[in-house]
Amino acid sequence: MSEIDCGRQHLSIEDAIAHARRNLDARAGERRGVQDVEPYWGTMGSSNVGWVVGYLVTARRRWRLDFDPNPDKLVHVNEENFDLPPSRQKVIHKVKPAKFDVSGKPIADDTQARLYWRKWTTRYGQPGLGVLCAVCRVYHSGGRCPFP
Ligand SMILES: [Zn+2]
Ligand SMILES: [Zn+2]
Repeated sequence: MSEIDCGRQHLSIEDAIAHARRNLDARAGERRGVQDVEPYWGTMGSSNVGWVVGYLVTARRRWRLDFDPNPDKLVHVNEENFDLPPSRQKVIHKVKPAKFDVSGKPIADDTQARLYWRKWTTRYGQPGLGVLCAVCRVYHSGGRCPFP
């Protein structure tokens, strides 16, 4: 499954998240930014299990902050909208690296992303997983699915 680049240069994580939120709220009649409805907990088998890594907007729309050592990705926000055709479901919002080494390669690690994960996770008391939802295919910390 391929990702589409959002086409913008994001200078900050906040800006990348804002763009993903705007895209996910593309429903007719919606003018204001969406509320993040439900924390998106890192999933099994990834390095971020037990941390809130983003938010679900609906059962089929979500975004999460990620780090990939691939120099073409690094810090980025993944936007997923399963209401769209498969070729348009996944959008990547890359955050422009701020530091480069002498050869011009970006210097980046997951420190910044982890700071955000920690900040979001502390809103929910303690790191945890909750209950794996068969519909959303993520963990709901409240123990039940918030989407009817
Ligand atoms: Zn973007
Ligand atoms: Zn659910």
